[in-house]
Amino acid sequence: MPDFPRPYPERDRDTTPFWEAQDQHELKFQRCTKCGVVRYLVGPLCPECHSFEHEWITSSGKGTVASYTVVRQQTHPAFPAPYTILLVEMEEGPRVVARLDAPAETPVEIGASVHVEWEDGDKQSLPVFVLDG
Ligand code: ZN
Repeated sequence: MPDFPRPYPERDRDTTPFWEAQDQHELKFQRCTKCGVVRYLVGPLCPECHSFEHEWITSSGKGTVASYTVVRQQTHPAFPAPYTILLVEMEEGPRVVARLDAPAETPVEIGASVHVEWEDGDKQSLPVFVLDG
């Protein structure tokens, strides 16, 4: 199977801790140490107070389905269609988009509990969500 497409061509000062955590199967978010906002995607600046100060927190990996879609048109050889993409509201607040690790026919309900697991590629790991229960 082809390797996953890389969202960023190179890791940089702002994104390296995020990608290194993913290599260890941990989902990390940045928390502003000035105003407390937890943010995702990774970036140098707090979107609320514009502070550069932040700390990294490790997500519980637990969340609830906020929305989803079934992808039927294949866009990359590493992701054979059909598959389901979830928008998950994590316990820490940020919303994360990732694939549901289940057949596309699997029923999904808004508000369903999910947890993160990891799919390993040659060069990086990516989060996938699994329905609880
Ligand atoms: Zn802030």
